[in-house]
Amino acid sequence: MSEFLVFEKVTKRYGDFYAVRDVSFEVRQGEIFALLGPSGCGKTTLLRMLAGFIEPDEGRILVDGQDVTGLPPEKRPVNTVFQSYALFPHLSIRDNIGFGLKMAKKPKAEIAREVDKMLDLVDLTEHGDKKPDQISGGQKQRVAIARALVNKPRVLLLDEPLAALDLKLRQRLLVELDEIHDEVGITFLY
Ligand code: ADP
Ligand code: MG
Repeated sequence: MSEFLVFEKVTKRYGDFYAVRDVSFEVRQGEIFALLGPSGCGKTTLLRMLAGFIEPDEGRILVDGQDVTGLPPEKRPVNTVFQSYALFPHLSIRDNIGFGLKMAKKPKAEIAREVDKMLDLVDLTEHGDKKPDQISGGQKQRVAIARALVNKPRVLLLDEPLAALDLKLRQRLLVELDEIHDEVGITFLY
């Protein structure tokens, strides 16, 4: 079986310093794949190269057989959930989640429908009209996940998405993340 996500001999240098050196790995479609390693070992750099925020100096990255190296971020079938939620403080939860669809000029009715689905998925239906400062840290992180998933990426990138939360909440959200993964069935790179 051909692998869905392929990192092929990927290297990223800053001057003489190797942030990532000759890294190859493959992930199957629908898998949750976790990159583990000490701080500074290159995890974020790998995710950023897949998202298109930075380009590798050597090697290739393929998604479903397509070489994505060189494509601008918005042309890549991936979306990122950051540790620092990065929600828009002046927008409601609904508008935060629908933001990408609005930018893509989707019809209002479709946006409303997709946002409803996402609110249900992350269990925030009752909180849609609140602003980010009116919900908890765990809820904010679920908004960030919903906002990334609403654009229907083929791969969801999660860069230490739970690091800002306390241990108990982290454990609970990890279980929820697993349930969300089962429901949406796309590939998660964590
Ligand atoms: P991780 O996410 O595993 O903690 P990173 O991918 O953020 O690690 O960083 C890998 C290495 O690359 C680190 O040593 C970091 O300091 C270095 N690095 C990351 N970005 C830059 C940059 N823009 N300029 C110089 N060095 C960088
Ligand atoms: Mg990192």
